[in-house]
Amino acid sequence: MSAPSSDLDTFCNILSQCKCLAISTGAGLSAGSGVPTYRGVDGQWTKINPMDVVSLQAFTDNPGRVWAFFHPKRDACIKAQPNAAHHALASLSISSVRRNLLPHLIDQTRPPLYITQNFDGLCRRALDTALDNAEKGGEILDKDTRQAAHERLIEIHGSCYRFLCTQCKALKTRFDTPLADIFTNEDVVEQAKNGEYTIAVDQLPRCGGSQWAGSNRYGQCGGLLRPAVTWFGEIPEGQGEVVRNLTKVDVLLVIGTTSLVHPAASYATTVKKNGGIVAVFNLGETHGDDKADFAFYGPCEETIPKLLERLAELNAA
Ligand SMILES: [Zn+2]
Repeated sequence: MSAPSSDLDTFCNILSQCKCLAISTGAGLSAGSGVPTYRGVDGQWTKINPMDVVSLQAFTDNPGRVWAFFHPKRDACIKAQPNAAHHALASLSISSVRRNLLPHLIDQTRPPLYITQNFDGLCRRALDTALDNAEKGGEILDKDTRQAAHERLIEIHGSCYRFLCTQCKALKTRFDTPLADIFTNEDVVEQAKNGEYTIAVDQLPRCGGSQWAGSNRYGQCGGLLRPAVTWFGEIPEGQGEVVRNLTKVDVLLVIGTTSLVHPAASYATTVKKNGGIVAVFNLGETHGDDKADFAFYGPCEETIPKLLERLAELNAA
């Protein structure tokens, strides 16, 4: 295969004719927000075996260790802010922006399918900001429009804001941190993370709150909460919805993730198989780039806003 093109104007011309757009994002999107990544030279996995901290088996064996690993990560996500790339992508959920940038979409009423592997919640927070700003700017946004925008964002690896009760199966949304007092003790968290100390189950986040003694009530049963994120060996969320939509997509933006690694790889393959165009946006060259038609390198928080700016300029010309 030939090398992907880096001709921005050519790509913008294709994008402005796009009938059905999808976006697939990964860790690189949030790198500019300071969210720590798992892999890479100083990534977590050089020190800890992932199967000991992010698998259902690990949670069953030692839920305190899994929580001790997850808590600082979640805390960092909550304290991070969406960057310019998150905001630029979120702007596509606003119909006036879409009409302007993507005038040929077959369904102008629906935002592009927006898939993220990130559980940091930053895509969703940027989406809320975009919707709020549009409303302040005079855009009429009814409840359905907001809901539709949120439904089109699929967090395939879950969200650090969501939790599942292991007992009554209630799905909880929590924005506060820490979720249990034990997490304020950094030494304990560090030791528990390394398997040198075991946090008692009754000190971990519970259904109904950490002080809740428990009852039989759904959503307040006192059961142990688990993060509603996808662990190793678990099936990512929303795959049916993603696959069903991707067959119609004629342009796919792959941002901050290599198009070689699953699941982004299968998304690119599906789109290519149906005659669509794939454009990759990454910090630097990655292995799967020869699958892509276009590749743009640099920090996402620069390349993505630049893409939308250029698209606006060309559409206005
Ligand atoms: Zn419960």
